[in-house]
Amino acid sequence: MQIRKRFSFEAAHVLPFHPGKCARPHGHSYRLEVGVRGPLRDDGPARGMIEDFDTVKELVRREAIDALDHRSLNDVIENPTCERIALWIWQRLLPVLPSLDELVLWETATSCAVLRKADLP
Ligand SMILES: [Zn+2]
Repeated sequence: MQIRKRFSFEAAHVLPFHPGKCARPHGHSYRLEVGVRGPLRDDGPARGMIEDFDTVKELVRREAIDALDHRSLNDVIENPTCERIALWIWQRLLPVLPSLDELVLWETATSCAVLRKADLP
């Protein structure tokens, strides 16, 4: 089974290689969905759960949201396309959340990047 938790953050970026308007500084209200997969735990305080939603919230806030919210993404990630931001978040989260299964990063209401465990080596 998979559980998901949603987050949002505001950030600015410039895509230096883009031939059009995205080469100018602008901002987005990003929305992030974090999917965690695994068996239900059968002991401890998270019994009956894959992962405690509060644990997911704390880890994603600490590793991703706090580092990106209200920042210029170019200061943090080179050429911060939606895809590269999703990869950056994945690489930060995986060491602390090994059951990470899927990230969906919405850059606008109609455009998102989806990164699944199977996409990575
Ligand atoms: Zn943009």
